[in-house]
Amino acid sequence: MITAERKPFEAVYEFARRHQKILVLGCGTCVTVCMAGGEKEVDALASQITLAARQKDDNITVEKHTIERQCDQEFFDEQTSRKIKQADAVISLACGVGVQFCIECFTDSIVYPGVDTKFYGANTEQGIWAERCIGCGDCVLEKFGGLCPVARCSKSLLNGPCGGSAEGKCEVDPENIDCVWQLIYDRMEKLGRLDELELNVPANNWTAGRDGGPRKIVREDITL
Ligand code: SF4
Ligand code: SF4
Repeated sequence: MITAERKPFEAVYEFARRHQKILVLGCGTCVTVCMAGGEKEVDALASQITLAARQKDDNITVEKHTIERQCDQEFFDEQTSRKIKQADAVISLACGVGVQFCIECFTDSIVYPGVDTKFYGANTEQGIWAERCIGCGDCVLEKFGGLCPVARCSKSLLNGPCGGSAEGKCEVDPENIDCVWQLIYDRMEKLGRLDELELNVPANNWTAGRDGGPRKIVREDITL
């Protein structure tokens, strides 16, 4: 999923205090799962803004609303559309995709980001999300026993490890980062496929990733 973290309240309040009528708009998908921008966080932020406005004597009224997904037109229904248009500004707790799509759908509205979007990650332990993919556009997981060196090696080495790998840890931050090349070696050994690691892996097709500019997927079979 796409992971995100709430922005510091002071930063969000700076957005809010520029306007009188704010809509805090949550998203019910990834940011709900990573507890950054779902209904619960919308409630909390709306109360926090209301309280702060009262204390600072700022004239701000706060509406709140959450939709299933802010990156999909079909969820901007009539009620949501009305709320967005009635607000002076929206503080969106969706990821950066949701914020931008909201602006595309409501071109006259001001939409602020209420969270910092991070990465594609997995929920590895309660309260911990870890990066697993950068969406490189040319997936090579099959070559590495299902572990991604593009996202998980600090240098994105396809022919690792580098000389800094020691005791299974990455030289970039041995306290916190496992060397994925150690994990790949262990996994390939377990699968009886170590010989495959002796082959040189050709360079990825980086033009399929961000290096080729903003990307688009077009499915001719389902376009109208
Ligand atoms: S190889 Fe690319 S698409 Fe596959 S998991 Fe890694 S970053 Fe994601
Ligand atoms: S120590 Fe391992 S994870 Fe870190 S940069 Fe080198 S090969 Fe990549």
